[in-house]
Amino acid sequence: MSIDRMTAPGLLGLDSFTVDEEKAHIVVNKEICAKCAEKPCLYVCPAVLYKLGKNGELTFDYAGCLECGTCRVMCKNKGIIKWEYPRGSFGVNFRCG
Ligand code: SF4
Repeated sequence: MSIDRMTAPGLLGLDSFTVDEEKAHIVVNKEICAKCAEKPCLYVCPAVLYKLGKNGELTFDYAGCLECGTCRVMCKNKGIIKWEYPRGSFGVNFRCG
């Protein structure tokens, strides 16, 4: 018997999301983030939700969040001013393939 091993992006692609359009579960303060030189969120988010815009400003969209909490732990400058789990029935639905 052989089992095909899936790649991490392939496994993540199986997840589905119910996005709460009315209440963001993560909020960042872009003024604080603009002063952060390291911006670890760009490197640690497994869903790659933190990006740099054309002018070098941080952009973030909570849709697609895997709720791992890594950004909250790694943000040393308190640029993430709110981090909580999504309300009931919202958020990620993990699927193991
Ligand atoms: Fe990315 Fe995890 Fe933070 Fe969600 S909780 S934005 S997946 S690092």
